[in-house]
Amino acid sequence: MKKIFTITIGILLIYLVYYLQKPYITSKVNPISEINPLILVNNNNALPDNINLNLVTFQKNKVADIIYNDLVAMYNAALNDNITLKINNAYRSKDEQTQMFEDKMNAYENDGYTKEKAYEQTTLTVQVPGHSEHETGLAIDFSNEGHYDENEKMWKWLQEHAYKYGFILRYPKDKYEITKIDYEPWHYRYVGKKAAKEIMDKNITLEEYLGGNI
Ligand SMILES: [Zn+2]
Repeated sequence: MKKIFTITIGILLIYLVYYLQKPYITSKVNPISEINPLILVNNNNALPDNINLNLVTFQKNKVADIIYNDLVAMYNAALNDNITLKINNAYRSKDEQTQMFEDKMNAYENDGYTKEKAYEQTTLTVQVPGHSEHETGLAIDFSNEGHYDENEKMWKWLQEHAYKYGFILRYPKDKYEITKIDYEPWHYRYVGKKAAKEIMDKNITLEEYLGGNI
């Protein structure tokens, strides 16, 4: 009888430990992509077509393999602080970006905009195909369940810690004149740890880090 009791308690304890343990990610990849983590993709700089990009899956999204291990480390560190980094968007192919752009533009045209005006209006919120960082596999839009206030725990955590894992807040507040994109607390871009630290320390953008090549 005593033995059965001990076994039952033992099994219960094993279940308890199992359920309390946080779902850390332990997988790793060996990157083979030949994309420079400092590549500049913006309004004036298109992503070259011939880049050898190897994509891997993270939370059902695709990302460039060179960011995977650091992304996992960041995910686990956030989890340790009771924050679950969910992803809204990561890699988009040029075709997907084109589709997104055309859908938005069509919607404006259906609303009565001229083709020219619809194009102009679309570029305010959707990057022209070939010019979206999401096509590099180096950019991630995190999801905070629809909460965008900068005081939200997730955005605060990312702003404080992301650089340690090689990620930067790509479109900071008050940098529109340089990035030409409004503040996006959710959009993080992998640039590698060294650059991320310098960009963070100096409070600059990737454009400024690369020497004003905008
Ligand atoms: Zn984004």
